[in-house]
Amino acid sequence: MALLTDFLGILAAVVTAIVTIMALTGLLFEILNRRHPERKIQKGRNNPRKWRELRQAPISILTLSTCFAFGLFAQFQGWALSPFALNWWSAPLLLIASMIGYDAWFYWVHRLLHTRLFYRFHALHHRSVTPTVWSNHHETFVEALLNQAYYAFVVFVLPIPWQVLIVQKIYDQISGMLGHAGFEHIASPAGRSPWPLASTVFHDQHHRHFRFNYGHTFSFWDRVMGTLHPKYDMTLKSFEDL
Ligand SMILES: [Zn+2]
Ligand SMILES: [Zn+2]
Repeated sequence: MALLTDFLGILAAVVTAIVTIMALTGLLFEILNRRHPERKIQKGRNNPRKWRELRQAPISILTLSTCFAFGLFAQFQGWALSPFALNWWSAPLLLIASMIGYDAWFYWVHRLLHTRLFYRFHALHHRSVTPTVWSNHHETFVEALLNQAYYAFVVFVLPIPWQVLIVQKIYDQISGMLGHAGFEHIASPAGRSPWPLASTVFHDQHHRHFRFNYGHTFSFWDRVMGTLHPKYDMTLKSFEDL
């Protein structure tokens, strides 16, 4: 019983943090988008279902928070690998390792969600052809579970301190919303060949063109597997001089 109470305490803290991050990030991008209409990616197209998409957010947030809270809880209980001591080299090293791990996980889960058998769980997310910052949590329970199971599982294979996992999750939440913002605010050469980072244009093209750009943080897997949109690098570059 004490175990359950402890877990529910962590879950409540995670849900509160995720909702706060979502509200602040969403409002920030609403303001930025209004100030920079020239940065809109799909010119002349709007998403009339923008606010309705938020109805799915409670299911998405509860699912991802449960996965994340379980990862933390497993480590606190000593069920997972003993984490490395937190210091100046272990923190960045494990953060980068886990970001690479999550990007690979996300890419292959996403490819699976686009198969005939699994697409039924991903179709809801693709109703947003012109995504907005609020589309990030427009997903089914199964999709959220498959994507976020990473955070419940990673502590068993990577000795990552919980503080580093929290930093990664905050980055993941903000970059997930950024990827759906519909406006390219931070275009830079780091987002295109030969650099590995993705961008807002990257995931926006996934929603618009459907069969390209399945990755999350990096474009690496799409480049290797030949699923990168052929005009991705060129389109991102066009936003750099605005
Ligand atoms: Zn997809
Ligand atoms: Zn999306």
